Amino acid sequence: MASLIHCPHCGVRPKEEFSIRGDAVPQRPSPSADDDAWYRYVFVRDNPKGRIREYWHHTGGCRRWLVVERDNAMSHEVFSVRDAADVAREAGR
Ligand SMILES: [Zn+2]
Repeated sequence: MASLIHCPHCGVRPKEEFSIRGDAVPQRPSPSADDDAWYRYVFVRDNPKGRIREYWHHTGGCRRWLVVERDNAMSHEVFSVRDAADVAREAGR
């Protein structure tokens, strides 16, 4: 994994300042969704290999939620780091 992460708010920071909080791809069902949709959202996750998007929390810095796109297989390259609020706003969430 890359040892330095470029936080959009704090600049380049060591990865130890961040907490990886999980897959950023699943979309939260509507409150009126059936039990099966909620079951799948809460308990059923893919375990992809390669280019992934995850929620990271800058625990030791600005405490903002971020969406980090990175390779979890071979290169561990970080492709992008964006504020999660901006990502959600663009997706209409
Ligand atoms: Zn930060």
